[in-house]
Amino acid sequence: MNIILLGPPGAGKGTQAKFLVDEHGLTQLSTGDMLRDAKESGTEMGKRVAEVMARGELVTDEIVIGLIREKLEAGGRGFIFDGFPRTLPQADALAELLQEEGQKVDHVIELRVDDEALVQRIAGRSTCANCGEVYNDTTKPIPADGKCAKCGGTEFKRRADDNEESLRKRLMEYYKQTSPLIGYYYVKGQHEVVDGLADIESVKAAVNAKLT
Ligand code: AMP
Repeated sequence: MNIILLGPPGAGKGTQAKFLVDEHGLTQLSTGDMLRDAKESGTEMGKRVAEVMARGELVTDEIVIGLIREKLEAGGRGFIFDGFPRTLPQADALAELLQEEGQKVDHVIELRVDDEALVQRIAGRSTCANCGEVYNDTTKPIPADGKCAKCGGTEFKRRADDNEESLRKRLMEYYKQTSPLIGYYYVKGQHEVVDGLADIESVKAAVNAKLT
């Protein structure tokens, strides 16, 4: 089963992707995480994309399609695409890459949220440096003992691009380049919507309901 989670930054794609990994044994493919790893490991590509990401702009289709191609060619029993595709050429490329592997996109689930909520969510967002569990200062604070509820880790980090200026740019990129994918998958008869403003457990249940 291959699932695309669609939605603006802060919609909850990463959080829901992790549930799908735990419950359905799927592999999360987050191009954002792959690019951040490349940046931290100091590779040539990582250095090139770091500034683009910090500004909140999109990196080139060629780079992200290349990253996804490598993962798909390595095989797996099903993927959750989180933050990919983000442009129409990426969506076409994904269809082709999956076809080459004898697979297809099975579900495209849009997590729908309003812009005000996004700003609030992103401003308070942090993740466990060890396992990547996502926290939010208001809706899901780091436990009072300072330990990650999932792995017990004590180090938490905030993303360099989770600031207001970069967020505005990321939202604009979403509306200009990514939101046309809603129409694209609608016409293909694959677009499904879930209310991303509900609490985390309700969103999880609604996503699961779409998969049965
Ligand atoms: P994310 O973690 O999904 O919010 O992605 C963080 C940043 O990585 C984005 O603001 C882009 O700069 C870059 N990025 C991630 N995925 C893509 C993609 N599919 N296409 C282009 N740029 C991407």
